[in-house]
This record gives sequence, C-alpha cells and structure tokens, in this order.
Amino acid sequence: MSKLNPRTKHKEFNGIVGSSAITIFLPLILEIFQLVCNPSYSTKGLSIDIHAILNQLPSNFEQWYDLAFDQTVWKVYLIWFFGLAILGQILPGKQLEGTELRDGTKLKYTINGISMSIALVVLLLARAFQVKDFQLPELQFIYDHQLQLTITCIIFSFVLAIFVYVYSFVPLANPNGLGTKEKILSVNGNTGNVFYDWFIGRELNPRIGTWDIKLFCELRPGMLLWFLINLSCVHQQYHLKGYVTDSMILVNLLQALYLFDGVLNEAGCLSMIDTTTDGFGFMLAFGDLAWVPWSYSLQSRYLAIPGNEITLGWFYFTAILLLQFVGFYIFRSANQQKSDFKNGKLNHLKSIKTQTGSNLLVDGWWGISQHINYLGDWLIGWSWCLPTGFQTPLTYFYVVYFASLLIHRQIRDDLKCQSKYGKDWEKYKQLVPYKIIPYIY
Ligand code: NDP
Repeated sequence: MSKLNPRTKHKEFNGIVGSSAITIFLPLILEIFQLVCNPSYSTKGLSIDIHAILNQLPSNFEQWYDLAFDQTVWKVYLIWFFGLAILGQILPGKQLEGTELRDGTKLKYTINGISMSIALVVLLLARAFQVKDFQLPELQFIYDHQLQLTITCIIFSFVLAIFVYVYSFVPLANPNGLGTKEKILSVNGNTGNVFYDWFIGRELNPRIGTWDIKLFCELRPGMLLWFLINLSCVHQQYHLKGYVTDSMILVNLLQALYLFDGVLNEAGCLSMIDTTTDGFGFMLAFGDLAWVPWSYSLQSRYLAIPGNEITLGWFYFTAILLLQFVGFYIFRSANQQKSDFKNGKLNHLKSIKTQTGSNLLVDGWWGISQHINYLGDWLIGWSWCLPTGFQTPLTYFYVVYFASLLIHRQIRDDLKCQSKYGKDWEKYKQLVPYKIIPYIY
C-alpha cells in the first residue's frame, strides 16, 4: 500500500451490516414517503396503514419497470443534472483553493453559486410570466411524477457511485504531461472491500477536468431540485384550491432561505468534513441527489394534499419564523466564527494551542458546546416541521432523523479530532464539556 493512501482499518456505520442496511432501507423510506404523500392516502393520526401503502405499489415487474425507467422522466432528469453541470462550468465565479491535501497540493474550485441561483430564478420568473395564470408545466410535471422521479434519483445515485468507484482506479495525468500519478483516496474509503468502499466513497475528490463531482452534487442538483419540488407543491395547491395557505408559504420561505444560504455560501463547504475528509461514494451520492430533495420536501408535499391544508394565523406564523431566525443566527454565526478564527482573525478569543500547530477555540460560540452550530441547524429543522401542525408524526421525521445524523456526526468528528489532536482534544473537552446542547448533551 502506498504511503499516500494507507489502508483504512476501521469501518464506520457498523461496517458491512450497517452500510448494507442504509443502502437498502433509506431508498425504501423515500418511496414510502412518496406513497404516503399521496391524495389517495390519509396520513392523519399515529398509525400508518401498511396495507394501503402496499396497495398503491405496482403488482408486477412490468409496472415496476415502467415506473423506474420512464423515458421522459429520465430525459428530464439527465438534462437537469448535466445541464446544471455545464452551467456550473461556464457561469462566472470566484476561484478559491480548498484545504491542503495529503500530497501538499490544494484543489481549485470555481465558486459560482450566486450566478447559478440568479440564472435559475430568472429562468423561473421568465417562464412564470410567459405562461397563462402561472400555470407552469415544468412544476406540474415534477408534482405529477414524484414517485418516478424519486426512483430515478435513487437509481442515478447508485450508478454515479459505481462510476466514481471504478474511476477512482484510473490514475491521474501528471500536470507536466509526464506519466500519471496516484489519486488521493479518502482515509475512510480504502479498506479494499469493494462494497464498503463503494458505499463510503473511495476517492476523496473525484473530478473530470475541473468538474468537481462531490462539490457539485453537494449543492446543485439535489438542493435546487428540493427548491423546485417545494415550488411544485405551491403550484399544485394554488391551481387546485385557488389559494396558497400561510403554512405552505412559510415552509417554502424557510426552506428556500436555508438552501439558498447553502448554495450562495458554498465557499463554506470547502472546510466541511464532507469535502475535506469523506470520499464520494453511494452514501454522499444518494444523500445529495435523492435523500435531500425527496425527504426534505416532505412537509410541502404533505401540505399540498387536499384535506391537509393548515392555516397558522399571524401568531404561529411569526413564532415559527422567529424560531428559524434564532436557529439560523446560531448556525451561521458559529460557523462564521470558526471560519474567521481559522483564517487568522478573532485572535482576541481564548483558544488552546495544539501540537499540530493549529488552535482550538474555547471561547464565543465554541466555548458553549463542541458543536453549537448543530443545535442551530436542528432548531431550523423544527421550524420546517411545526407549520404542518400535529396531525401526523410523519412530518416530524426530519427532526428525528436529523438529530440522529448530527449525533452520529458529532461522534465521528470526536474520533477524528481525538486522533488528530490527541491530549489537546482531551483538554478541549474538559473546558467545553457539552457536545451539542448546553447542559443537556
Ligand atoms: P463542524 O463545523 O462542527 O466542524 C468540525 C471541525 O471543526 C472539526 O473536525 C475540527 O476540524 C474543527 N473544530 C472543531 N472544534 C473546533 C474548535 N473549538 N476550534 C477550532 N476548530 C474546531 O462540523 P461539520 O463540518 O460537520 O458541519 C458544518 C455545518 O454543516 C454545521 O453547521 C452542520 O450543522 C451543517 N450540516 C448540515 C447538514 C444537513 O444535512 N443539513 C449535514 C451536515 C452538516 P479541524 O481538523 O479543521 O480542526
């Protein structure tokens, strides 16, 4: 094994068992969501009628095949995915460098989330004013093909994960044109087990030319599709009922704010664990391309079903809006504080010197808990679920799932920092004992 890419000894997610369970069950959960967010299914109360869900499923292979390989849906999805990839390559943006890699190099990224978002919004507005009574066939298409699109996104993420796995074995051409050099693999994805490495991601930053597949998937096709799915629900409610409820407006507004914040501040992604440490495999491909759009849009899809309309009134509307702002403030300012600190600003804040040469903040947000930014993110999640009222626990899936994701992430990060900072990390944990929620966890 090369020095650059040591063998990965530890398998995360409980190894093969856990990663197989995720690979099988998470796609199934997405399909169940779709079948439950359906006018022919009543989702009030605690019980979920499995028979009613199963009755909606195709009964033979041919029907399954038609659902999974609907030609129009595939064409639309491929145009969406590769159209965004091409736009990302040609739209103007800033050139930034990522963190230093194990071979001492730094990758260059074109950060053009702003021009990308403007292009999408301008296109949408132009279409909306071109058609009669805001009747957009594109949004109706998304609403009417939710199950087919969900399955397409799932299959596509399987295929993309296979592609990047195989591609990770293709050596890189040397920039000086002489021969090839070894690719940098993820420290977590080089176990030698084909399934596990495919799942967790073998190569750290798969790229075709300057197209960075990981950063692209993280912020573009899935996040922007989530925005369009939400809009398609507003569209559906408006054209079916003739009005749009305040709960639907609120969910759309809050989620659009969050997702555009991610797309517009994509430079922040360059220092996230996903970019610096995780490889790009099935877990991220599926998470970015299928899970984010089809599970994060659950609240809008639920509210779009006739009979599930909820009117919040000004009091609850404002209270939920405030909750999002509090969450957002914690989330953004904590992330910003860490990033500023790492960039040499905020030297007046208390920190501990570590043997690696970099310092750990023990002041400001980072003196309150080890991941106060996760708490802010979780509060934002609550503000998305509360507009759906208390008719079903299903729409609260996000906060439960997200809590487990954040706790798992905190545990992974703890292990990472323990091995990176050793005794200094122990000292940090003594000074900042709470992991996410002060005085609770
Ligand atoms: P953090 O932003 O908490 O980053 C953790 C890293 O920061 C550590 O590995 C360490 O890296 C460094 N660090 C930790 N503590 C300190 C300190 N006290 N002083 C200086 N550096 C420190 O985690 P993530 O990258 O997981 O999350 C980033 C954001 O993304 C969060 O706000 C999170 O909520 C959000 N997120 C959202 C998701 C979603 O699906 N909506 C999914 C995942 C994350 P180093 O080695 O550089 O020192």
